[in-house]
Amino acid sequence: MIQIKELHKSYRMGSNSLHVLKGINLDIKEGEFVSIMGSSGSGKSTLLNIIGMLDEADKGSYVLDNVPIKNLSEKKAAIYRNKFLGFIFQSFNLINYKDAAENVALPLYYQGISRKIRKEKALYYLEKVGLADWAHHLPSELSGGQKQRVAIARALASEPKVLLADEPTGALDTKTSYEVMDFLQGINDEGKTILVVTHEEDIAHMTKRIVMLKDGVIEQDKFVEQVRASEHV
Ligand code: ADP
Ligand code: MG
Repeated sequence: MIQIKELHKSYRMGSNSLHVLKGINLDIKEGEFVSIMGSSGSGKSTLLNIIGMLDEADKGSYVLDNVPIKNLSEKKAAIYRNKFLGFIFQSFNLINYKDAAENVALPLYYQGISRKIRKEKALYYLEKVGLADWAHHLPSELSGGQKQRVAIARALASEPKVLLADEPTGALDTKTSYEVMDFLQGINDEGKTILVVTHEEDIAHMTKRIVMLKDGVIEQDKFVEQVRASEHV
């Protein structure tokens, strides 16, 4: 699903340059549930944004579902982004004056989907995240965990091939964090490929594979069972 080879990314600020990704190689198959871990500033979001086609690498190759992602026009990039990718953010990014159902339906509007289908899909996905009764509540009337579930429903409504989540539990308490991760596990069980960026070890352990970023490269890449086995030696 995702094939990354020798990816490099630097940020330039005036005459200074910060080399953040220094040759990343990463292969993710359809149906995997992967976490990208690393300390603050290690480049997790930079990598996720490149995978999410929100940013471009300086060097290296990236193939998403057999499509080489390079030098795409803005228009083509937007089409692929909508078709392939769903995003979940730490701060939920819901629109405050729209209710849960309208928030879920909004990306579908930009994809030119009819009002009737938008409404059906919004209600279907809200039900899927256990929020059918909250469809007509505003974000301000929802708890943090509920807001993140609305955001998950919104990401799922476009039926993306890959779900990308940048610190999805970063704004939630521990119990709610585990609930959201349980939720993502359920979605992965149904076959969805999911990538989660986190700096929290216990959150990463709720995925199936942990990729550790350090000093611009992948320091470790292991399935969670392997990590657990090595911890119990
Ligand atoms: P993480 O998500 O692991 O905390 P980031 O990918 O956000 O790390 O950032 C990696 C490094 O790149 C940090 O040192 C950060 O300050 C820097 N950085 C991130 N985005 C930009 C940007 N747009 N311009 C300049 N520097 C940036
Ligand atoms: Mg980050």
